Amino acid sequence: MPLRALARVNLAAIERNVARVARELTGGAGLCAVVKADGYGHGAVPVARAALSAGAGWLAVATAQEASELRAAEIDGPILVMGALSGAELPLAVAARADLVAWSEPFVAAVAAAADPGAPVRVHVKLDTGMGRLGTRDRREALAVAGRVVEHEPALELVGAMTHFATADEDPQFLAGQLAAFAPFVAELRKLRPRIVVHAANSAATLRGSACHFDLVRCGIALYGCDPFNGDPAERGLEPALELGSYLAAVKLARAGESAGYGRRFFARRETWIGTIPIGYGDGIRRALADNCEVLVGGRRYPLVGAVSMDNITIDLGSEPSGAVGDAVTIIGRDGLERQTAEQLARRIGTINYEIVCGISARVPRAHHRDGEPA
Ligand SMILES: *Cc1c(COP(=O)(O)O)cnc(C)c1O
Repeated sequence: MPLRALARVNLAAIERNVARVARELTGGAGLCAVVKADGYGHGAVPVARAALSAGAGWLAVATAQEASELRAAEIDGPILVMGALSGAELPLAVAARADLVAWSEPFVAAVAAAADPGAPVRVHVKLDTGMGRLGTRDRREALAVAGRVVEHEPALELVGAMTHFATADEDPQFLAGQLAAFAPFVAELRKLRPRIVVHAANSAATLRGSACHFDLVRCGIALYGCDPFNGDPAERGLEPALELGSYLAAVKLARAGESAGYGRRFFARRETWIGTIPIGYGDGIRRALADNCEVLVGGRRYPLVGAVSMDNITIDLGSEPSGAVGDAVTIIGRDGLERQTAEQLARRIGTINYEIVCGISARVPRAHHRDGEPA
């Protein structure tokens, strides 16, 4: 029997994407696999293991809880928590032996108070060179934070220095300005700590070339086989790891004038067969996709018609009943010669592939495999 809804994740594809990105790295730069938000909806723990086995040396997440879940799965090695941490989250981050990001002296003091002197907390200093979110815009302040960690906080260890690009996927000129603002900070820090790990690039910056690579790149989206530029991943040698599927639970004839779904948004203009698929916005199929995308059945594309409900969508199978109850339905992935990418769905509704894959809800089980073999 088909599963109601299933996200199949090919860990071998993730490994190939890791190797593909790693090949691009220059000057001995390492690869940090970003597995925040449950590995962009792909499952953080299996993705983390696959990335480490394929050559990533670091992992990064956004929250203390995410770091803690990786440690609970007995994943070793450096885990960088990139996000802001409240005082309430610090004990969890410290217990997870996570690397933390600091940009103010009061935060450094709070980390020192939460630290265990026997196991120094590893700290990365963040300069805001133009993203305008976290980090300090003031190079003096960032250097003062680094100096304090090195000189006055024995329970902390200065490990890294970072920034984050705002426009790596769209505006290379602004990116160049951020790089130029980062360079003098890096030069001064390397005087303080020659072995410091300098990192800046996300996937888009990494694929743009060596200027952004420094000692480590922080890649998420590309490792999942999605295109950081929201184009066709295949054109960059990236292989989508996730397929989202369901099945035809009902196939029925709609006569001219009959409707399907909430609000009667779809009316049959002539006799046509309507297929009902038991997946909806409760699973992450966005309502804006109504009348605005296709799904694959038997290697052919069929339009989604009528409203997207919480638990169902309906498609127009046409005047011949070309699908049968139980047939597999592909929403993201391949079926025969047809394929549908997260990027295509994203473009339909004016969003990005990141939001499509992260939006697949926890109600959808994930099945991990390696090129079709059980993982
Ligand atoms: C999410 C994130 C990344 C990874 O970005 P991708 O575009 O998915 O490669 C890198 N750095 C920071 C600070 C992030 O928050």
